[in-house]
Amino acid sequence: MKSRTQRHADAETRRGMFARYLGLPISLSPRRRVISFNSSAVILFIAALTLSAYFATNPTGAQSPQRRSGAHSGSTPEAFTVADRRLVERAIGAACTERVRDPLGSMPIDEMQARPSLSVRHPDAVAGWRRAERLLPATRTLVANTIVQLAKEYDLYGNTVTRARISAANARVEAVRRVKPDVEARDNASVLLRDPHTIEFGTIFLSGLRSDEAMISVLAHELTHIASGQSDALRPLFRAIARRAVLRTGLRIQGQRAEELACDLVGVIAARRFIKQTASWEPLPRRLARALEHNCVDDDASDEDHLSPRNTIRALLSLETDLAGELVADGSATMFSILPPSTPARSVVLTASTRRS
Ligand SMILES: [Zn+2]
Repeated sequence: MKSRTQRHADAETRRGMFARYLGLPISLSPRRRVISFNSSAVILFIAALTLSAYFATNPTGAQSPQRRSGAHSGSTPEAFTVADRRLVERAIGAACTERVRDPLGSMPIDEMQARPSLSVRHPDAVAGWRRAERLLPATRTLVANTIVQLAKEYDLYGNTVTRARISAANARVEAVRRVKPDVEARDNASVLLRDPHTIEFGTIFLSGLRSDEAMISVLAHELTHIASGQSDALRPLFRAIARRAVLRTGLRIQGQRAEELACDLVGVIAARRFIKQTASWEPLPRRLARALEHNCVDDDASDEDHLSPRNTIRALLSLETDLAGELVADGSATMFSILPPSTPARSVVLTASTRRS
């Protein structure tokens, strides 16, 4: 994803997700227990992956790679193995292959960039805008929960000061009220930090994200910029995430790149939470891939503020190896995500709710 910071003459600060790294200076873009139809198969598959990773890099078993169990990929960066790296590369291929097969697959941002401008009245732009507005309330909640989850995971939630900072960030997220379609913004989305109640969304970008999963990942990205706000309240978290990504990928992730990557990370985690809260007949890998597909570019350019799109996917999946494992899993084995019995009513509302017409 792309985003860019623009400082205008009036000291406005914009953050955004850019469909294109080079070019226009526009700023624009919970984990819950999953119960799958065949969750035991998934668990066995992940267990097999874990074991193979262990023995591939540690045939003698002399050291423990300390892969974590359960929902999270993250807290032991030293555990990232050669097998993990291979898994990430396979998952990138799987996600981008799925994009081509999926009728709701996202348009890659390099294709978006090449498109002519799109009227706000174009049916595809209208559909995208309605999707964004419908999903905004649920995405606010997903983002708030994801930020708390990440703050705990990166040890930035341990005292009253850090908790107050996260709480204030999430209050900013809750205050975002609308999505504004914009022709000129084209393939970008952005927020204005001085007045952070609206996400401006280019009409090409609105039309190119054809699934709820993709839309949530982009809305969550923008909401995370707003969460950090003009005070850069989440900078410690952004830096911690970037440090781990650097350890796992060797990519250069400094300055604004750290924030953009962290916003993308919140986006994919929020989308994954949404997927696991909402019932669907669609294969789990297909739904998960949608959170990443706009980065499946041919023209893989980077700039100072952004990793290239494909390196963005690489960094995200290196941070979330559980997600990488789910992307390469056999879709037929994970066909049905269903709501766990204990899921609160709010999750049901996410599914049933808010379709606007
Ligand atoms: Zn951004």
